Amino acid sequence: MDNKAIVIDDTTLRDGEQTAGVVFSLEEKKEIARMLDAIGVGEIECGIPAMGKTEQASVGALVEMGLKARLITWNRATIGDIQASLACGVTAVDISVSVSDIHIEHKLKKSRAWVREQLKVALGFAKEHNLYVCVGGEDASRADLAFLAELVDLARSLGADRFRYCDTLGVLDPFAIYEQVRFLRQRVPGLDLEVHTHNDLGLATANALAGLKGGARFVNTTVNGLGERAGNAALEEVVMALRHACGIETGIDSARFVELSHLVGAASCRPVPEWKAVVGARVFAHESGLHADGVLKSSRNYEGFDPAEVGLHRHIVLGKHSGSHGLGYRLRQLGIHLEGGELDTLLDMVRDLAQRSKRPLDDAQLLRLCRPMHNLAS
Ligand code: MN
Repeated sequence: MDNKAIVIDDTTLRDGEQTAGVVFSLEEKKEIARMLDAIGVGEIECGIPAMGKTEQASVGALVEMGLKARLITWNRATIGDIQASLACGVTAVDISVSVSDIHIEHKLKKSRAWVREQLKVALGFAKEHNLYVCVGGEDASRADLAFLAELVDLARSLGADRFRYCDTLGVLDPFAIYEQVRFLRQRVPGLDLEVHTHNDLGLATANALAGLKGGARFVNTTVNGLGERAGNAALEEVVMALRHACGIETGIDSARFVELSHLVGAASCRPVPEWKAVVGARVFAHESGLHADGVLKSSRNYEGFDPAEVGLHRHIVLGKHSGSHGLGYRLRQLGIHLEGGELDTLLDMVRDLAQRSKRPLDDAQLLRLCRPMHNLAS
């Protein structure tokens, strides 16, 4: 990855809302957009105006907020769709065209020539109206690569500002994505590329990084990885993986990731699992004796990054795998000082209770176990 600035185009409000069963209210959309903007997201894909009046009103309301982030809408390659976007006041559009033969033959029931023609007409209309245009190659990951390169070059020659490579069904691995994006980058060097990845095989974040390594400068994300089917590359994962696995800063303020995750989790009625990478409430919970001891000696022993970087906290969990160091630490936090034989006895009781109840102990359970011990109140 070179040091060109990476731009996050977050599509929580478009692909995220496209998740089966998810509906955001206008107030929720505004709140999500405001927070995305506040943490430094460069571009927000905010809706599909062609869907009708309600969607157009909400895109218009987002435009009126005057955010720093550029707002972009999703469009089919038709003049009608682009007119609907223009009416909302946006200055940027994604014009989506199906590029795989599967989609061209079995979804559109058209030909490659028809796709070329639609692209010319829609892109020409958008550029006449001074729009920033991203051409979205739907199902690019299953397209014939030579035809795809031809379309990317056509988009460039017609004045497009970037091309979105979509792994629409989430079927490729990072190595293939890297090779394909690199190929397009070399074949059409004059046009910015974007990667849009899905998580059907659990590879969305890895594929997003691979696309960036392959030469894309823009990357699509959604908060919590919300999106069609298994979802999209998660904003919080992409930003933290770029920072900690690749040494690349995106300029995004990650400290509000948990807050943002809760906002989108509530608005989408899809609560975030506590083991969700980066923002799950319990991803910095340590139970095993070795790990709790290690992390208490130095957090760097067992934490890849500081939980505060994303707005999380460390938890020392008391359960079947606990050791005396972790137990002593938790007791001291509760103002209880036990040592030696008493601590060992209590540890046996903690492990036994966790084993029987198949879960870690909460503070009330721990305090009940401590009660018989004579120096509880010390
Ligand atoms: Mn998608």
